Amino acid sequence: MTSTLPAADPVALLSDLIRCASVTPTEAGVLDVIERALTPLGFTITRLRFEGEGGTYPVDNLFATRGASGPTTGPHLLFNGHTDVVPPGDVALWRHEPFGAEIEDGVLYGRGAVDMKSGIAAFIAAISSLPATGRISIAITNDEEAESVNGTARLMQWAAEQGHKFDFAIVGEPSSTTTVGDSIKIGRRGSLNGRITIAGVQGHVAYPHKALNPIPVAATLISALSGTLDDGSEHFPASNLEFTTVDVGNPVTNVIPAIVTLALNVRYNDKWTPETLEEAIREGIESQDDENTRIDFEVQGTPSRSFLSPLSGGVELLAQVIEARTGKRPELSTGGGTSDARFIAAYCPVVECGLPGPTMHKTDECVPLADVRELTALYAAFIAAYLK
Ligand SMILES: [Zn+2]
Repeated sequence: MTSTLPAADPVALLSDLIRCASVTPTEAGVLDVIERALTPLGFTITRLRFEGEGGTYPVDNLFATRGASGPTTGPHLLFNGHTDVVPPGDVALWRHEPFGAEIEDGVLYGRGAVDMKSGIAAFIAAISSLPATGRISIAITNDEEAESVNGTARLMQWAAEQGHKFDFAIVGEPSSTTTVGDSIKIGRRGSLNGRITIAGVQGHVAYPHKALNPIPVAATLISALSGTLDDGSEHFPASNLEFTTVDVGNPVTNVIPAIVTLALNVRYNDKWTPETLEEAIREGIESQDDENTRIDFEVQGTPSRSFLSPLSGGVELLAQVIEARTGKRPELSTGGGTSDARFIAAYCPVVECGLPGPTMHKTDECVPLADVRELTALYAAFIAAYLK
């Protein structure tokens, strides 16, 4: 593929990507397709297989870069995406072959059509439509839909170790609501899981003075800690703590149990870090009467951090480019679940900008070709404006 103006057509590349059955973490040749598309565009490709740590499976990743070293100066733009897809499920429920890339009435069908092989195809096609100048890198993982341990998180760490510094990143996940560019995601809430154990003294229910029942203490803690933690912030709703289970495990009626275990989850905004949140939960626990029980609290796993990208710079430019194309400023959203943007936010401002995703993860996942072409043109307009 050589540079052609206007925007090169992304449909052939998208079809090739969809024909690879790259269900997480099977790569199925999909990264070869990307390597073949990017090499003629002057990119240096590094294939990175990050091996499992702590029981995780190995994952294939790809890093491509152009103009990042050498005489070129100016801003360094990063694009991130994932080639892995969720399984098709019961293939009999599909009207179209899940990995066939069939086109019917201007709509392309296949697993990954919106989530998110179109984003990758559109970005590469956008680059191929522009002069080969400027500093652009592309980080692709084949594990976003599952554990996400050996994917973008480690790719970003590796790129930093190689000396790459990025000024702005676009994640090509489906971010739009009904039309291409009507919404971009500028941040995400964080998520923290925790466990509280309350230890009393087991005993006979007929002799409560010889036991110490932890259940009333648990009840007090649950009502004291549940609910909102703040009033929200400019771009986020209020942070909220929910208890997700209360476990006593007592099968009999004549024993006061020794231990109650509580599990909780907090979805939190940009007013908190995992550290300040953990501290606040501890203080909340300590402010209650423990009635001589022993209360322990621990954070479970690694919390995902909240982030909010600065609204100036790349975000503002992207909003302007979208408004110039669509006549409407995009909604700056922080809603939805997690994505790999959370791993990029520690390195540079990041935004998710992609298609509407009404069929993602569904049977007959599909994308109107007009949407893929519009996304390509939008990316091209942004890249040209940003690298200028
Ligand atoms: Zn996705």
